[in-house]
Amino acid sequence: MLMSKLYVRTLREVPAEAETPSHRLLLRAGFIRKTAAGIYTYLPLARRVLAKIERVVREEMDAAGGQEVLLPLLQPAEIWRASGRWDVYGEEMFRLRDRHDREFCLGPTHEEIITTLVGNEVRSYRELPLLLYQIQNKYRDEIRPRFGVMRSREFIMKDLYSFDRDEEGLERSYQAMFRAYSRIFARLGLAFRAVEADSGAIGGEVSHEFMVLAGTGEATIVHCRACAYAANAEKAEAAPAVPEAPSNVRPEEVHTPGLRSVPEVAAFLGVPPTRLIKTLVYITARGPVAVLLRGTDNLNEVKLGHVLDGAWFRPATEEEAAAMGIPLGFAGPAGLQGIRIIADPAVMAMGEAITGANRPDYHLRGVVPGRDFRPDEIRTVRLAQSGDPCPRCGAPLAEQRGVEVGHIFKLGTKYSQALNATFQDENGLQRPFVMGCYGIGITRTMAAAIEQNYDEEGIKWPLPIAPYEVIVIPVNVNDAGQWEKAHALYLSLREAGVETVLDDRDERPGVKFKDADLIGFPLRLTVGPRSLAEGRVEVKDRATGEVFAWPLTEAVRLCRHYLETMRAKLQERAGL
Ligand code: ATP
Ligand code: MG
Repeated sequence: MLMSKLYVRTLREVPAEAETPSHRLLLRAGFIRKTAAGIYTYLPLARRVLAKIERVVREEMDAAGGQEVLLPLLQPAEIWRASGRWDVYGEEMFRLRDRHDREFCLGPTHEEIITTLVGNEVRSYRELPLLLYQIQNKYRDEIRPRFGVMRSREFIMKDLYSFDRDEEGLERSYQAMFRAYSRIFARLGLAFRAVEADSGAIGGEVSHEFMVLAGTGEATIVHCRACAYAANAEKAEAAPAVPEAPSNVRPEEVHTPGLRSVPEVAAFLGVPPTRLIKTLVYITARGPVAVLLRGTDNLNEVKLGHVLDGAWFRPATEEEAAAMGIPLGFAGPAGLQGIRIIADPAVMAMGEAITGANRPDYHLRGVVPGRDFRPDEIRTVRLAQSGDPCPRCGAPLAEQRGVEVGHIFKLGTKYSQALNATFQDENGLQRPFVMGCYGIGITRTMAAAIEQNYDEEGIKWPLPIAPYEVIVIPVNVNDAGQWEKAHALYLSLREAGVETVLDDRDERPGVKFKDADLIGFPLRLTVGPRSLAEGRVEVKDRATGEVFAWPLTEAVRLCRHYLETMRAKLQERAGL
């Protein structure tokens, strides 16, 4: 491909709304363009990356026994009514009507469609297990579409559904998918970790998320260095707190003018922040709720969601809290009326604490949980964090950040029962299929790969998913010698099966080097004056930044060998 012909416009400036490296770089390097909030156009470079990801996904799904199908993304409301999800899916579902006023949605996921299909077609246990998958668009009207294609409203997903006769079959399918997922992310050249996860609204008991490790990731992972335990912090069990003996001091108000945050109050009173209780006020579908946490703990929103039986919730505004007589920043559980109080058990284990006094500019010290206030419920709602003991072996947990690129679930019979999808077992009895579902965000994986591999200058694509492998740059295209050598090298590389771009533009070398770094070609071969004088080509490895030279006459062979070695290293690292 000639750079002058490649449909790519690199940008010097990016919209301020692009907050994450992958969003900024995909825009700047000319991979994507925004069409509307959370809706993107994928340009040729991005399409190539996505095709490579899809290819590896397809190969591993097929190898694990999957068969590819293509399900409609326009789905009738009836099947969603039958499963009971039409009403509960909520605002995230895009809904529409046809000319006959019949209701439809744009598929956010495909359990309903596939379960109905298989329920109508598959009659006997002899036809099981059945693993069907597809790669296509999903539609979710996310509350906050953000980070570009990381959380968009239209995105590409691979979703596979497994149908088994019993739990043992499901376990086998689940393990096969777990292994396939591990191979996929390894083959894509990404550092990742599989973690225990919350099953959320999709249902089922067991689930794992595949996280691409990246400091900029949205998810917090806790993992143990001593054993294999790793979990999404939302799912991890926070360790039980050691109960302290209740103190016998009496509560006493202290003046804390303008001090609203835990660190401020702790510093002002000269106590560690662990001595404080913070009172968070939420408006929920089930009325207002106050949540009590230790000063150093953070709310686990997923667990609060479970406590509220899935009802929506959001932080109360200053005005809403004030209307209930609660001054935010100075709220405390003692004497709090007319609001459901949920306390984390770690709070109840404290012998004595400092809380807000429910009076602006005052805190209360000497508050004894259980004596000075009694919560309506004691439920674990704090996030596990680094230093907490591992729930399996007790060693301290470490924290890491990641991007969730895949999620696998054991669904059991949730959907097959709701949709009456049954097969005949060996005794002639009708039984519901035992199901699993397994998703990979294809477009999100592209973004995650960048979050893990970038620098100031641009993207450092892992070789297996780079849009092209090599760029050849003649320093000066108007120099006939340089141009001929560069062009010949480009043709021979292409001949040798190396995916190559020739930067044939009449631009300053600085501009061409910048674009090459920005787009992220794994190898850059430069043909300049030295190449002519010494018969050498300058090589730059984008990932390591190393610069070296090859004899021009050997360049094709050495280039192929270099790429082979890179691939072999990746495979070895992945244990493949
Ligand atoms: P999240 O918690 O990030 O919203 P989810 O639990 O809703 O994800 P699943 O329903 O399990 O996601 O979907 C499977 C995969 O699809 C996810 O692991 C992710 O890679 C991808 N995905 C989900 N939502 C989006 C989105 N809005 N934009 C891009 N990819 C997404
Ligand atoms: Mg989601």
